[in-house]
Amino acid sequence: MEKKICTICQKNKPLSDYGISRGRTTPTGRKAACRKCTNERATELRNARVIIGLCRHCTRPKSKNTILCDTCKTNQKATRTRLKVEVFNAYGGCVCQCCGETTLEFLSIDHINGDGAKHRKSLSKTNNYGQAIYGWLKRNKYPKGFRVLCMNCNFALGKFGYCPHKLKNTEYSRPSLDGGYNPAESVLVTENQGSVFIDGDKVF
Ligand SMILES: [Zn+2]
Ligand SMILES: [Zn+2]
Ligand SMILES: [Zn+2]
Ligand SMILES: [Zn+2]
Repeated sequence: MEKKICTICQKNKPLSDYGISRGRTTPTGRKAACRKCTNERATELRNARVIIGLCRHCTRPKSKNTILCDTCKTNQKATRTRLKVEVFNAYGGCVCQCCGETTLEFLSIDHINGDGAKHRKSLSKTNNYGQAIYGWLKRNKYPKGFRVLCMNCNFALGKFGYCPHKLKNTEYSRPSLDGGYNPAESVLVTENQGSVFIDGDKVF
């Protein structure tokens, strides 16, 4: 395996650890610094831009209370929405799998077995897991075990271990409006009991 030394970390690494050199041609066709170092440099540069009041993505002045300029913020929002819709579509469409809610703002991805916390750990490099999960699902070709739920159904499942939409006669008592309990109704869905996860983020 062909190797070369990174000009920044000085480590001897395989060529595949280096990005393809565009523009300037190098003997190996690869960049002088390894991917890890190149990425770290880029992150440092972006962070430095924010400190002096510029947008993290471009060189326009950043807007208040954000690290981006208005243009980049709008673009980022649109990109995130597009990705979200793409992921929802891969899991049966922009519709709650329990109640049929279709309002996009109410929908999120639910980890069917409720192991959002465990999954979050494996994605811990990013601090914004709620966003990261969409990219992760796409990169991993939409693995099984996830579904689209609205906030109501997600919340009920997490909080009570069932969604009231799925209850049918017997066994389970539900609170009623007069402060008492409705006669027993059976629970069809018992998942996620104990905590509420929205996009894998524990919210309750
Ligand atoms: Zn390096
Ligand atoms: Zn910008
Ligand atoms: Zn729902
Ligand atoms: Zn429901």
